[in-house]
Amino acid sequence: MKEVYDVVIVGGGTNSLSIAGYLGKCGLTVCILEERGECGGGAENTEPMPGCKIDPHATYLYGGAAPAFEQLELHKFGFRMVHFNVLSGGVTSDGNGQLFGGNVKNEAAMNLALKKMSAKDLKANELMATINGDPARLAELLRSIYWTPPPPPHISLAMEDLPWAKVFRKYNHPLYEDSWNHMPTMELLDTLFESEQMKMVSAMGSWYNGPHPNWKGTAVPGYCCNMLLGYSCGQPRGGMHSLTHALVRCAMHYGARIYTNSKVEEIIVEDREAKGVILADTATARNRKIYADKAVLSNTHVKPTFLELIPERELDAGFLERVRGINLKGGSLFVLSLVTREMPRFKGEAEEMFSNGLYPNCTVINTDSREAMFNMERVVYSENTHPMRKEDMVLMFLNHDVFDASCHTPEGYHVFTPIYLEVPPPEYHRDGPLAVNNAKWDIVEVMMEKIREVAPNLTDDKIVAKFVNTPYDSSLRNMAFVGGNWMGISQEEEQWYQKKPLPELSRYRTPIKNLYLCHQTSYPGGLALQAVSYNLMHILIEDLKLRPGEWWYPSPHFIPSNA
Ligand SMILES: Cc1cc2nc3c(=O)[nH]c(=O)nc-3n(C[C@H](O)[C@H](O)[C@H](O)COP(=O)(O)OP(=O)(O)OC[C@H]3O[C@@H](n4cnc5c(N)ncnc54)[C@H](O)[C@@H]3O)c2cc1C
Repeated sequence: MKEVYDVVIVGGGTNSLSIAGYLGKCGLTVCILEERGECGGGAENTEPMPGCKIDPHATYLYGGAAPAFEQLELHKFGFRMVHFNVLSGGVTSDGNGQLFGGNVKNEAAMNLALKKMSAKDLKANELMATINGDPARLAELLRSIYWTPPPPPHISLAMEDLPWAKVFRKYNHPLYEDSWNHMPTMELLDTLFESEQMKMVSAMGSWYNGPHPNWKGTAVPGYCCNMLLGYSCGQPRGGMHSLTHALVRCAMHYGARIYTNSKVEEIIVEDREAKGVILADTATARNRKIYADKAVLSNTHVKPTFLELIPERELDAGFLERVRGINLKGGSLFVLSLVTREMPRFKGEAEEMFSNGLYPNCTVINTDSREAMFNMERVVYSENTHPMRKEDMVLMFLNHDVFDASCHTPEGYHVFTPIYLEVPPPEYHRDGPLAVNNAKWDIVEVMMEKIREVAPNLTDDKIVAKFVNTPYDSSLRNMAFVGGNWMGISQEEEQWYQKKPLPELSRYRTPIKNLYLCHQTSYPGGLALQAVSYNLMHILIEDLKLRPGEWWYPSPHFIPSNA
């Protein structure tokens, strides 16, 4: 029997599962085909040691402002958030600590953070609060950036008409200027703040959540990454994979059929129109060919979508060349997880600051000055190798069990997961794709030296186990993590808004009729924000003539294709 659905989706990541929920809720039949034994893509947890859960990929949920949470009513499907006690901290190599805000309800953390700020920083903080201090305004700002499809390619918006510029203006934001749209994040931080620690933690919040602070045009997304984190402030109860479970339940509730262990080998294209997919021989789905009446969505990386899944004859050579040229740099993270017998005791004043329940969920190690960050950038992106000197390492040291007891850690143990270090994508490494894997325990050695410099108590006898996930490992776990890059492709001015991933693909449509992109390689990019799926809904409502119920609200900044 021919197996036919309205919509067939290649891949079962969070963007796929949420669009399946949306389309099912609109009454369409949907089939998801996932290559792995489990859905969720990067929203995955593993337990390499009994009782100790680690995060090889996504770790925190920044998507609190996502309309999908309300529109798909994920709480009905078991989704619960746990919020941080304290947001983040920084520590210099001589133990100078700083807390950076925190859960709005945690006054003690807030007071400690503010106490160490200079008059200029306090003032900037106060002015930023025009938006940051009010969750409704902050959600409105974040939605104007992340949860709004870019305008159609034929429309070019003046800087003052950009959606976020309008929101900043609406609330008379005293600091925002249109020049932010071309600035590197670091330049913006230099204009706003005085304290180098404060700049470093924000800069790393940007880099390890997307845009490199030194790259042109990253100021808005770079700065707003910090706001995403501040807004959501937590993780799903039980870890990131719990989000997957809620999304799977939701998609199935609305009738989606999900096949796991079902790798798609080809997207069937006839006369430049997508008709369905062909599965690998090993697939567990009933039929090798599955047909789509209305649309095929690709929830895998833009490169394999066009370079592997679609017969070459269906696409122009020039287009394929430009897809090949899409830059993968940035976002390839070396992920160390540690099981320890003790919490780190930081030296100097950081120890006192981070005590009494005010332990940061994430500590940036090496906030002395921006030099280390720039050294790390030079080593990784110019010399195309991995850092091997502790002076070139700025680490993000994350810690879940201080705020969420559901991150099961056996009594007497602590799990630090993940501890991030930036390394080159495997295919750009000067010594070949396996270079980082071959050097991984040497890299860990230097990372441990750096960690012990600020937390001397973490001696070998306190370390129970170490686990590593390299970018190469990530690309084996998830075929969509091309280059092991967590945000899919580079995050910079040339890869932002109407240019992402290529101008003609920025509205999620493709040169193949009825084929759409639904993966983090489309705007706004990485993180489990369910932003690509929400944005794509606007386009599918137009093309498939969908009529969602009252539950649907579009972005107020959406510009229809026929405008
Ligand atoms: C180290 C690291 C840290 C991260 N930290 C965070 C974080 O803290 N917070 C956060 O929000 N995000 C984080 N992310 C990013 C997050 O994981 C991704 O942004 C998110 O998973 C993207 O979702 P997606 O649905 O677009 O794609 P994916 O999650 O990549 O899902 C794509 C799916 O498609 C499947 N697939 C691919 N090809 C095929 C095929 N041919 N046939 C069938 N199935 C196929 C894959 O197996 C996969 O399940 C991190 C990622 C990494 C690597």
